[in-house]
Amino acid sequence: MSSTEWEPVIGLEVHAHLKTRTKMFCRCELAYGAGENTRTCPVCLAHPGALPVPNRKAIQYTIELGLALGCEISERAIFARKNYFYPDLPKGYQISQYEAPLCGPGALDVPGGVRVGITRAHLEEDAAKTVHAGGATGRSVGADYSLVDFNRGGTPLLEIVSEPDLHSADDADRFLRLLRQTIVELGISDAEMEKGTLRADVNVSVRPRGETGFRPRWELKNMNSFTFIRRGIEAAVREQIAAYDRGETLEQSTYDYDPDTDRLTVHRSKEEADDYRYFPEPDLVPVAPPADLVERLRSGLPELPGARIERLAEHLGVESASQLVSTGNDAKAEAFAAHGVEWKAAAALAMNRGDFLPENAEALARIVQANVTREALDEAFAAAASGPIEADPYLAQTALGDESELGPVIDAILAANPGQVATYRGGKEGVLGFFVGAVMRETQGKADPKVVNRLLREKLRG
Ligand SMILES: [Zn+2]
Repeated sequence: MSSTEWEPVIGLEVHAHLKTRTKMFCRCELAYGAGENTRTCPVCLAHPGALPVPNRKAIQYTIELGLALGCEISERAIFARKNYFYPDLPKGYQISQYEAPLCGPGALDVPGGVRVGITRAHLEEDAAKTVHAGGATGRSVGADYSLVDFNRGGTPLLEIVSEPDLHSADDADRFLRLLRQTIVELGISDAEMEKGTLRADVNVSVRPRGETGFRPRWELKNMNSFTFIRRGIEAAVREQIAAYDRGETLEQSTYDYDPDTDRLTVHRSKEEADDYRYFPEPDLVPVAPPADLVERLRSGLPELPGARIERLAEHLGVESASQLVSTGNDAKAEAFAAHGVEWKAAAALAMNRGDFLPENAEALARIVQANVTREALDEAFAAAASGPIEADPYLAQTALGDESELGPVIDAILAANPGQVATYRGGKEGVLGFFVGAVMRETQGKADPKVVNRLLREKLRG
């Protein structure tokens, strides 16, 4: 082992299917799970003479995402042809954006983490889907034949390219989750990895800490699970460090991550960008979004998840705040807190009992802060999920917290269970739960558990 301390350097290219009604350059409907090749037309099948017409909504969605990431919005974005041959690409090129993307440099601040530069965000069309069939493996190598489903061909695809500002699998995971949630909350994509509407290419290299240049990177293509992305990064870092420690030099390559073996295998050598022979798409005019449209979209942005996490982190810490926001429970926690519930309790209630109508937040806040029975609390939350509730009927069901009433009940239970009492006094305090349960049964759930606990401890100390 060398004594060099290695620093991972990670950048992501994230692809999200935009949630438009129709494809990027034709009027074919986007329908997940529709029968094969039922959503096609001369444009997306590349019949001679068919001309593309850009999807206005897809352009708007891309601008919205760009604004959310603080990107500069281009005044003149240009579509370009990215040329390559593959059966899933009937035109022989993909329409993308190259030198003049719709969204220029920006950044995403990951709460509790790093500021990740956004190089660009641009719009392109997805390729069709190839299905390898028959043969021993069912994969491209060894399959008997391949089938192409053109339904996916021409789906609007948003590509977001980050700067290599991430330095651990954890950071990459947090960044990608926050980016995904931002996309979902903007309503521009479902961004579901398991459905393939969100995919990421992950670029990984390592360098000795303190070195500023970049070493050759490995690109992990088409990653579609947070777990595999994390494990793929860890595997790449591990294997690169081992190679450098053996004195090897590395080349820039594309790798596949095999989750079964937790290892990377070379996919193919990385093509240089020049290989694609990009050139401006002659069938499409430049996209020039009017300034007033951009401003209207900017002012219409909701408060973004990153900002909400920052705000809640002051009360709850970054981890709890992130959890609340990522599960969509933050507004409920804030409503409880606004009505006087202590922040940590408000967060726990929102996470565990989040299924209530927002209009009931005030009544529920009063109920949880009052000394009501467990039953009343359960009933209140159950009712609050389906319609408006009044606090008063629940507040009337106060828990039994009076020592003069609870004392004799507890004394009787202790007297009836001398064995358990001896066990507790012998040091096994876990049996306290048994006594609490007995008191709650005896009082039909009306006793205040806090008071019961305190009285039991006092009396058992004996
Ligand atoms: Zn079509």
